[in-house]
Amino acid sequence: MTMKETQPVLEVRNLCTTFKRGGVLLPAVRDVSFDVRQGEVLGLVGESGSGKSVTLRSILGLTRRHGEVTGEVRWQGRDISRLSDRQLRQVRGGEVAMIFQEPMTSLNPLLTVGLQLIETLKAHTDLSRAARRDRAIEMLDHVGIPAAASRLQDYPHQFSGGMRQRVMIAIALAAEPKLLLADEPTTALDVTIQAQILDLILRLSQEMNMGVILVTHDLGVVAQTCENVAVMYAGRIVEQGAVRQVLRAPRHPYTAGLMRSVPQDIAPRTPLYSVPGTPPSLEMLPRGCAYAPRCEVRTEACLSKRPPLETISTGRRAACFNPVPAIQGEVA
Ligand code: ADP
Ligand code: MG
Repeated sequence: MTMKETQPVLEVRNLCTTFKRGGVLLPAVRDVSFDVRQGEVLGLVGESGSGKSVTLRSILGLTRRHGEVTGEVRWQGRDISRLSDRQLRQVRGGEVAMIFQEPMTSLNPLLTVGLQLIETLKAHTDLSRAARRDRAIEMLDHVGIPAAASRLQDYPHQFSGGMRQRVMIAIALAAEPKLLLADEPTTALDVTIQAQILDLILRLSQEMNMGVILVTHDLGVVAQTCENVAVMYAGRIVEQGAVRQVLRAPRHPYTAGLMRSVPQDIAPRTPLYSVPGTPPSLEMLPRGCAYAPRCEVRTEACLSKRPPLETISTGRRAACFNPVPAIQGEVA
């Protein structure tokens, strides 16, 4: 590994995003910190509502209008949260691209796919008109759309669900971003297409040395594609570290819960186990650990004090007063 590869391109520090609804504060993301290096694929997992999408959206400044965002998002040394809307638009879709959970929300139904690709290239590259068209075809071809040249003048609704997802990826990757934020990019797709799209993202991340944050519900996907993983619960990261350590020997009881009933070798399409109980409402978060009400090993301390996210071994952090004991022989 070269020095360059070990440099983080994205540094998120103490990110907090709080919405307000009817005078009530909803702390959707609380004190989230992590790094993404060039070429690294970081998995972000957690139950629905744990703040994964809001985290990704906040990185790109997309939650500014609806909520209060504090903390730092350093993109190649620049604090994204200090950029003007205009500067942000330049970063967005160019250096940093996002694939949204809902493909139709980021595709314009009224414009042809070719035009949408070409607009992105116009905004973020200095390719000539002819080169833009060539590149648009090349991108569609790259993501596995047959007869790419003839599909440029088609509208999003003329593509099947899987093909539409590919179009979105083609647009996201057209300007060769250095970071891709992928929010459950394959959840709605069938198994075969899901595998193909993930392979594609992984291959492109290696070829282009692109960092990726991959939000997914599929532990098999995390095991197969991610180097590191962060587990979110009620807006916070509760455990974080190398995938091979976290998935093999979870230390936070919540991670252990998600992994329950998962066999030793995590197969593709292994969904997160649903832990009994429900996450707390953001309006009434417990004073102590947010997971304590559902936790089998909670103590008095867990109900009154919030466990900080602390380093428990090299490259590994967990926020728990009673972590699951480390497996003997595990590399610390
Ligand atoms: P997920 O982990 O499933 O992606 P989200 O990040 O979408 O979860 O949502 C985290 C929490 O923030 C949820 O409780 C959601 O209802 C809330 N939330 C998201 N966007 C808004 C918004 N614009 N206004 C108020 N609450 C929101
Ligand atoms: Mg989401």
